[in-house]
Amino acid sequence: MASSNMTSHNENSLVETKKTSKSSKNHTYDLDWIKNTNAKPFFTDDRYLLKKPITDQGCQKRLSKYNGLVNRLVPEQIDEELKKRQLSTSGEIKIRRIRLKHYYKAQLTFGCENPFKMIQQHFEYIAIIDFEATCDNNQGNNYPHEIIEFPIVLIDAKQQIIVDKFQSYCRPTIKPILSNFCTELTGIEQHQVDNAPTFPEVLHNVESWLNERNLLSSNKRRCAFATDGPWDFAKFLRMQCRFNSISYPRWAKKWINIRKEFANFYSLQRCGIGKMLESLGLIFDGRHHSGLDDSMNIARIALELIKDGCVLLLNDGVRASDPKFIDLNISNDKTEDFDEEESPQNDSLVVLDE
Ligand code: AMP
Ligand code: MG
Repeated sequence: MASSNMTSHNENSLVETKKTSKSSKNHTYDLDWIKNTNAKPFFTDDRYLLKKPITDQGCQKRLSKYNGLVNRLVPEQIDEELKKRQLSTSGEIKIRRIRLKHYYKAQLTFGCENPFKMIQQHFEYIAIIDFEATCDNNQGNNYPHEIIEFPIVLIDAKQQIIVDKFQSYCRPTIKPILSNFCTELTGIEQHQVDNAPTFPEVLHNVESWLNERNLLSSNKRRCAFATDGPWDFAKFLRMQCRFNSISYPRWAKKWINIRKEFANFYSLQRCGIGKMLESLGLIFDGRHHSGLDDSMNIARIALELIKDGCVLLLNDGVRASDPKFIDLNISNDKTEDFDEEESPQNDSLVVLDE
């Protein structure tokens, strides 16, 4: 462990300076003391970096001192420090502060400058999906939502860019005529679904598209699917598979819940796509409730998380034994229980009415 030989800076003087400060704006501060240390990585190649608490006591102490100091910096000072480290200064102050804290934690972990460059994503590709479904303004709990748009936006996690897209409309069969409410909400017109294949055919096309890119490979680290919240898979996809009497796809049993990850990583309340973008200093690009535009914007949020050092892991999924799914009654779905070991970030079950 590295902590014993990490101190060459007088940390007490730092604390003294801060204790006497009413506002840190006009006082000196020094976040650069880490540079003078001989920090050694205490987790080498740890893909769960920034999500695990630091266990080494010396490092823990340093981290909490540093975080306390960062908490007292005013926004201009935060931005100055971010710039020094070539980090983004966009986003609301809470996010900028967390960015600086995560950077230091990564620095302690890897014991080097530019520690975000050391972080490796767990998955090579992340496929973002945001379904649109039939709906009405006075729909009850039992409304038979049928998927009418199936988009995919593919992220190359290492290159940190969007590399591909898929989109298909689907023709609903239970309620083939879209409500005016649905068309207004989603922008999807009647003729677009009338000319589209039904869901089972679209699912087949989706799986061919994924297979052409080797994204349904047996290599578990090749590709993960991601959505905004639990509803796309746990509600819409499950319902649709039941309507069509088809098996629930294996690849959709666990996913990355971006809304949950965003809230955890930046210590913010869970919120929708527009609000997440706004907190990051970005604006929604395109049309809200268009499946492809929603997916593109979720992908932009995922990319910001990756750039800020977040390793995206499976953090949500369906459990066959969960009473919430019993009324969905999928007889031919061989759903397995969520594998906690494989996905250490899984901390809650899917909540449909979240
Ligand atoms: P979203 O991903 O937010 O665009 O929503 C996915 C689907 O949820 C939509 O295609 C609708 O079927 C349904 N939905 C979303 N918002 C509403 C709403 N305000 N009222 C009724 N249904 C909605
Ligand atoms: Mg949507």
